[in-house]
Amino acid sequence: MAGKQIPVHPGLFTEGKSPQLVGSKCADCSEVTFPKQSSCPKCTSEKAEEILLSRKGTLWTWTIQHFAPPSPPYDGPQGDDFVPYGVGYIELEEGVRVESRLTINDEKLFKIGMTMELGIEKYRTDADGNDVMTFVFQPAS
Ligand SMILES: [Zn+2]
Repeated sequence: MAGKQIPVHPGLFTEGKSPQLVGSKCADCSEVTFPKQSSCPKCTSEKAEEILLSRKGTLWTWTIQHFAPPSPPYDGPQGDDFVPYGVGYIELEEGVRVESRLTINDEKLFKIGMTMELGIEKYRTDADGNDVMTFVFQPAS
């Protein structure tokens, strides 16, 4: 039986052709957060409203994860199945910096300030055979 695609955490991103990250914006001080929060981390206002974030941003900093991180919390491929991956912070137009897995893992391909675009990618297969999907950023085409 074919597995379904399920998000790694509910409510992180929208599904469909042009997915967007789900964040929140404070109605009082305009602070934007990701993931969304019910109250503002900056001014503690309860008036944080859900917003959809830009699909593009710029690379603020990055590194390459060369070995499987400690598990838990890491639950992706281990041992021979592990493939090094890029990790970085993407600064979105809204001013929020999002920590994300990156689709590139060759240091020659990274440039601080380059434009990156959101994508959704399979992260692992769960015990029921479902594809667990997570968000990634890739160099914008
Ligand atoms: Zn606020």
